[in-house]
Amino acid sequence: MKFVFVYGGVMSGVGKGIITASIAKILSNMNYEVTCVKIDPYINFDAGTMNPLEHGEVFVTFDGGETDQDIGNYERFLNKDLSRRNNITTGQVYKKIIDDERAGKYLGKTVELIPHVPNEIIRRIKESSLGYDIAVVEIGGTIGDFENIPFLFSAKRIELLYGKENVVHVLVTYLPIPKTLGEMKTKPTQHAIIQLNSFGISPDFIIARSEREVDDKRKRKISKYSNILSDHIISCPNLETIYSVPMKLMEQKFDKKLLNDLNLGFKVSDWTEWNTLVNNILHSEREVRVAIVGKYVNTGSFVLYDSYISVKEALIHSGAKLGAKIHIDWVSAEQGSDLSKYDGIIVPGGFGSRGVEGKINAIRFARENNIPYLGLCYGMQLAVVEYARHVLGWSANTTEIEKTEFPVIDILPEQEKLMEKNAYGGTMRLGEYAAVLKKGTLVYDLYNSSKRFDLDSSKLEYYRQHAPFRLGVVRDNDVVIFEKHRHRYEFNPKFIHDFEEAGLVISGIHRRRDGINLVEFIELPKHKFFVATQSHPELKSRLEDPSPLFVGFVKACLDNS
Ligand code: GLN
Repeated sequence: MKFVFVYGGVMSGVGKGIITASIAKILSNMNYEVTCVKIDPYINFDAGTMNPLEHGEVFVTFDGGETDQDIGNYERFLNKDLSRRNNITTGQVYKKIIDDERAGKYLGKTVELIPHVPNEIIRRIKESSLGYDIAVVEIGGTIGDFENIPFLFSAKRIELLYGKENVVHVLVTYLPIPKTLGEMKTKPTQHAIIQLNSFGISPDFIIARSEREVDDKRKRKISKYSNILSDHIISCPNLETIYSVPMKLMEQKFDKKLLNDLNLGFKVSDWTEWNTLVNNILHSEREVRVAIVGKYVNTGSFVLYDSYISVKEALIHSGAKLGAKIHIDWVSAEQGSDLSKYDGIIVPGGFGSRGVEGKINAIRFARENNIPYLGLCYGMQLAVVEYARHVLGWSANTTEIEKTEFPVIDILPEQEKLMEKNAYGGTMRLGEYAAVLKKGTLVYDLYNSSKRFDLDSSKLEYYRQHAPFRLGVVRDNDVVIFEKHRHRYEFNPKFIHDFEEAGLVISGIHRRRDGINLVEFIELPKHKFFVATQSHPELKSRLEDPSPLFVGFVKACLDNS
């Protein structure tokens, strides 16, 4: 078992997650079995209850974990599902230790920071990397943060346990170029190295993020002051697309040097497909303009779009496949903008009442003007409300906002009970659920023309054994796909018939074992493209395997442009 630890120096937000994902991709393209682990030093148990303003998008794993968005980066690069176990937080570590202590499992011993906390951290890292050749472990935050200390201690301990020949330490730093000087400064990087050294960890590689390429002079300077080989200082300037990062690292022979330091054999890897896709992202001549109508978060005078990072990436993946650049406008649902200039409209997931009427107006506009529409989770629920109001003529709403005569989107009784108990953490409908698709629908066709039928059918047996509730009732001739979920409210099954009568097609359902049918996909057949889903297909979109619904949407946008 080999480990690559990735640390951040100088400051956060410089793309450590993308670098971790790129390192893992480089190794996995050489046919090594690779996994990624993200460590988040906060005390929250998981990212599920955190405000997107604090922590960006909440990613969801197939097994229902609500994780840091870096798990999304890893999946998008590796084209592989990761488990909830791959995101470790301080909260999880302490909860386990305290639960064990209360259960008397420490047999009267004093439970202490050292060794019990690192022991639990190491146990978790081992558990999440079991069966792999290499685990790339990213330690969140920046070295020097108080809360990082037990994790740095654990990384050093893993080096002692497994031997230095099996562990590589990578420090991702930032080299600022202050405007007043116009020169790239290495001092913060030197200090970050010293800080990491104080934990007994000597970085094998420095990956130097910066606005521009790091020149040889700076590399020599870092090398001289920090005792790191200058050919182990890798320049990683801002690039037009994150998917070019593996290439940027490999241009500097990072792959060979890393394999050498891990004492692993170098294998030739094939990047043809990846490079074609990257080339399409960079150089496609066609472009589609998409409006994502959402509730955006302001932080001071900046606006954060990070909470929809997977939607953005899913569009880019589809553009790469179809040879189109994607231009996204983040349209505030509260401001009411002119949507006629867009080739397509998306209403993504969301919670609460702010901006809801604006989203409903946007959906109505798309429906009535035959503009391609893709609704994701809340974007499906509000499409149902819109249809009920303006086609069926009902005074309808989702009960998340108000109780009306026509609660077309409603909470299931078991969810209502959880809400009464304030049991918010980890209790939504989370993770993958099976949807049985209706033959002859657009949704069926889109999944059929991707690899998803095969991929997902191979999961049936796994879920049959490990989590039958994710499968529900699947009959012999059913065609089943899996998408990820994160929501509490559902299409109210009692109105399904009325909607079908009024022309809305239900293209996929999840059949629960208690007989309740949950609507997973809807579509409007006479429309250019009007598809919405209760799931979050953006969370299963990868550069090399884009989400079928997004491919269909972008194709419709291209036809419409
Ligand atoms: N607020 C809605 C629900 O809880 C939709 C959630 C979402 O879009 N992720 O069901």
